[in-house]
Amino acid sequence: MQRSVYVQTFGCQMNTYDTERMLQLLRPEGYEPTNDASSADLILLNSCTVRDKAEQKLMSHLGTFTPLKEHNPDLVIGVAGCVAQQEGERLLKKVKGLDLVFGPDNVDSLPELLRRVRERGERVSETELHKKREGYQFIAGEPSPDQGPTAMVTVMKGCNKNCAFCIVPQVRGRELSKPADEVVAEVRRFVESGVREVMLLGQNVNSYGHDRADGVLFADLLDRVDAVPGLERMRFTTSHPWDCTDALIERFGRLRTLCEYFHLPVQSGSDRILELMRRGYTAAEYTERADRIRAQAPDLHLSTDVIVGFPGETEADFQETLALIDRVQFDLIYGFKYSPRPGTKAAQYEDDVPEEVKVERLARVFERGEAIRRPRLATYTGETMEVLVEAPAKSSKANDQQLTGRSRHNIVVNIKVGNAALALFRWRGKLAQVRITKAFAHSLLGEFVTVD
Ligand code: SF4
Repeated sequence: MQRSVYVQTFGCQMNTYDTERMLQLLRPEGYEPTNDASSADLILLNSCTVRDKAEQKLMSHLGTFTPLKEHNPDLVIGVAGCVAQQEGERLLKKVKGLDLVFGPDNVDSLPELLRRVRERGERVSETELHKKREGYQFIAGEPSPDQGPTAMVTVMKGCNKNCAFCIVPQVRGRELSKPADEVVAEVRRFVESGVREVMLLGQNVNSYGHDRADGVLFADLLDRVDAVPGLERMRFTTSHPWDCTDALIERFGRLRTLCEYFHLPVQSGSDRILELMRRGYTAAEYTERADRIRAQAPDLHLSTDVIVGFPGETEADFQETLALIDRVQFDLIYGFKYSPRPGTKAAQYEDDVPEEVKVERLARVFERGEAIRRPRLATYTGETMEVLVEAPAKSSKANDQQLTGRSRHNIVVNIKVGNAALALFRWRGKLAQVRITKAFAHSLLGEFVTVD
């Protein structure tokens, strides 16, 4: 029986990956994805707890979807992701039209859970975390019918760190690494289907392998993925500075496919705040690692996350964060205002930095980041760089058609073309040489030179 599924995904790339796995599992059950929630037979919201007021936002989305049941009594509505993991049964009690709640560790049971809803009329909550390696099966990613040139490959799940502001260890459980052979086989399948670039995913990806006895750690995994014939590019996210080993740093500039881009969240430049955050390193230790990365790969772009307004952060603490930004010269900064997440250690601290101070500090972080990024991007004007062409640019207009892609440094590069639809047919998934004609604050503009 043919059915349609509408999925809305919130939050990080791990959720995007889980959504892909859900669609993969639902296809053999007869479900095809749709962009139209009003005509769907199944609506899934893959939720995130990292964003502010996540649960309220989820409730408001559910409030718009549950009335659809009046016209379509067979409609099934489910919530997945981290809010589902945290709330479980409570969500079913709160939302009348909700049929199904399941956590990130229960994605593989989705077809069975749906049968319980449809065939037995149950309202189902399944949020058990797999705590042990035995019995845990990673779902291998498969190329989707509309697979682009980049594929995400999860290599581990969970996190053993204990950062005070973060709910991930509670909702995603402890670290479990996928066997390296499975990772390599998955990458091979994607490459054979035309994928050029893989993104290796994990909440704390560079601590890969510590839970396994085969001795394959993250740097070794990179070696093995790099050797997959036909793979052109490899990236990974997200990393913790504590697990940024010499072996990992040494792979930059040496492994052919490993792109010159590293996202290494620092969060604060104040040792006092880093300790309250339970990050496990000092500002000097972070800076020392950043220096070693830059010494190994001088052309590498380093990006980071910064949280402003963490409980107890004074202006002096914040000045130390700005000083660290100046010292490390990040190529890109993702800044966030602190807000407490229920269930975390930091939620017990007094959220004592006024909102207007958080807003003002965040603006100063972005200002400082842009002062570094703009001139750095401007140096690329007139240069030719390799771009993996992905899609039509969002800003494409009838009289100014552009395609978009990314450089190895993860810079967005838009490319002027005559006809975006025709050019996309020819260029999508190709590694093009692009001459940069203009630099903006966050992207580059260029024109095709040659292609492989
Ligand atoms: S390392 Fe990352 S995922 Fe793990 S607790 Fe810290 S912030 Fe959360």
